Amino acid sequence: MNWLTEFVRPKIRTLFARREVPENLWQQCPSCQQMIFHRDLATNLKVCPHCGHHMRASAIERLAWTFDDGSYTRIELPKVPADPLRFRDSKRYTDRLKEARDKTHQDDALVVAHGRIGGHAAVVAAMEFDFMGGSMGAAVGEGIVAAARLAVLQEAPLIVFTASGGARMQEGAISLMQMPRTVIATRLVKEAGLPVIVVLTDPTTGGVTASFAMLGDIQIAEPGALIGFAGARVIEQTVREKLPEGFQRAEYLHEHGIVDMVVKRTELRATLTQLVGLLRVKELAAA
Ligand SMILES: [Zn+2]
Repeated sequence: MNWLTEFVRPKIRTLFARREVPENLWQQCPSCQQMIFHRDLATNLKVCPHCGHHMRASAIERLAWTFDDGSYTRIELPKVPADPLRFRDSKRYTDRLKEARDKTHQDDALVVAHGRIGGHAAVVAAMEFDFMGGSMGAAVGEGIVAAARLAVLQEAPLIVFTASGGARMQEGAISLMQMPRTVIATRLVKEAGLPVIVVLTDPTTGGVTASFAMLGDIQIAEPGALIGFAGARVIEQTVREKLPEGFQRAEYLHEHGIVDMVVKRTELRATLTQLVGLLRVKELAAA
């Protein structure tokens, strides 16, 4: 025992121990760097009360924020072959899947549920960005198809929250095949005379943007969301031109007609309630 172990080490420990508490209770806004009390952040739906920055949200949070009283019924999504290509980069694909499952407590990057919005039946599919970057493999494709079939069965609108880095490269061409499949899924809903509403959240890119994410009857985006196909740097290098300010952001896409409206998260439920009410063509026709 000496001065170092008896005095200095405990001091250092308390220094680190003290630091752990605020990290749990406070979160720093990545945009304005202000510290936000976690409860304030939760009541404000993960939107910074200082600068209005929309932080990323989980699929489960999306469902809770969207349905009446936060109550909904999740459906089990079809099982797909795990690791069809026996893919391995620095890690095995099966190991990556396991890690993502442990981290998110979801089977894959999509969650589907049904319930009521403003008293009207609705089916919601929400992507989980924390699950391998919300990448679209066979499971997400199957999930979108299942969500579309459920919407048709229930004669309910389909609302999709997108958050994705694009294709799941570990599934190669199988991942790419989900693009036409999800396109057909949205068509199923439309052919039944039901609306598809897409809510683009940060970030929505790659193969998801190139398929079902752009096929809503109404395209909503959250403020500041990055929405695009290829990354800005890749485009800049290809066209050899400086890209305009705010390129691939929700507001820019709204100004240029790709997005119908940019809606703050705190107003999203009210907007969806209104839209679902206005678009319930079938119910009105039956009345
Ligand atoms: Zn902020």
